[in-house]
Amino acid sequence: MLAELAGQVRQVTMKRQASAIHKMPSGRRKNQELYIGLVRLHVLHHAAEEPIFGLGIMQELSRHGYRLGPGTIYPLLHGMDRRGWLRASWQLVAGRRRRTYLATAAGRRALQLARERVRELYEEMWEAAR
Ligand SMILES: [Zn+2]
Repeated sequence: MLAELAGQVRQVTMKRQASAIHKMPSGRRKNQELYIGLVRLHVLHHAAEEPIFGLGIMQELSRHGYRLGPGTIYPLLHGMDRRGWLRASWQLVAGRRRRTYLATAAGRRALQLARERVRELYEEMWEAAR
């Protein structure tokens, strides 16, 4: 199962590298730029509840309709660690080291502030749609 997933991850990585040759972003990639802040908040939300890891959070995000590959997720997690919202550590899972991330106190504070902004945006968007 894990080997199969690792194979899929490698395939996605190769596809991403191949598509990087094209200069114009596809519709999906343009939308990705629009959603990337939501993705970060989503990651922070889960990392405030329990330790998360790259492949797991990729699967969680795809459950919500976000198709993000390792070439996007791993730099995103690393960047959130660098900014102090997440703290990385290593866990041993089935004899393999896995890099996991947990929200820091600063990450939790940022999440709390973002929660209010998301609510405001949500209410405004749904008010306008009515
Ligand atoms: Zn989720």
